Amino acid sequence: MPDVLWTGLAAAAVALAGPIAYTAGTQVVVSGLRLGVVKRGPARPMVALTFDDGPDPVHTPPILDALAAAGVRAAFFMVGRRVEAAPALARAVRAAGHDLGNHTYAHRHLWMLTPSASIAEVDRGAAAVAEATGTTPRYFRPPWGTFNWTAYVRAGQLNEARILWSIRPEGWLLPAPASRLASYVVRKAHPGAIINLHDRGGHPSTPAATCEALPRMIAELRDRGFEIVPLRVLLGASEQKSAG
Ligand SMILES: [Zn+2]
Repeated sequence: MPDVLWTGLAAAAVALAGPIAYTAGTQVVVSGLRLGVVKRGPARPMVALTFDDGPDPVHTPPILDALAAAGVRAAFFMVGRRVEAAPALARAVRAAGHDLGNHTYAHRHLWMLTPSASIAEVDRGAAAVAEATGTTPRYFRPPWGTFNWTAYVRAGQLNEARILWSIRPEGWLLPAPASRLASYVVRKAHPGAIINLHDRGGHPSTPAATCEALPRMIAELRDRGFEIVPLRVLLGASEQKSAG
């Protein structure tokens, strides 16, 4: 009987090894070892703002206005089907000089997807951004920051740098008031920080609170000596550093 039990456990372990390596294992490897995944930039007094899940007809325009008023260029990780629903907004983001990122086509959790479905999510997300804006996205961020192996590799094949974040002020479930969003970012700010924000998604009140927080967040970051730069500048500084 014990032999049967052990055989059964061994068979179960073998059966689970593949899926675990494909999903959670990938996360441990690429994130834990920082294997081709950028969570922060170089140790210089600069930070980058990034916005996920848009474009959104209600929240993206005022966020673009707040960034323009402050003279800040950020990165927008867009969801392909939302780009298709609001292509003019995607073009407005591009026209304002912000960096474009691929946040998959339908924002499905990659741990639930087969390899072929994962490739489709990455490819269709990139294609939607490119078709609407005429610009191929240079960055990829998976929904909820979770990779599987196929999506990780596919984004690399598309020459999209795989970007996570080092500061995330917004809660997943509970709303955060604007004042707390700003103070959290300013308190946690560090050289090379990649700050994760949303122009859609999360708690329903989050994008509006984020928009309200932006002027104070930006002003106080600058008061503390941080330059707020596009992602390409933050990462470019990293490349210069490693080259030099
Ligand atoms: Zn997202």
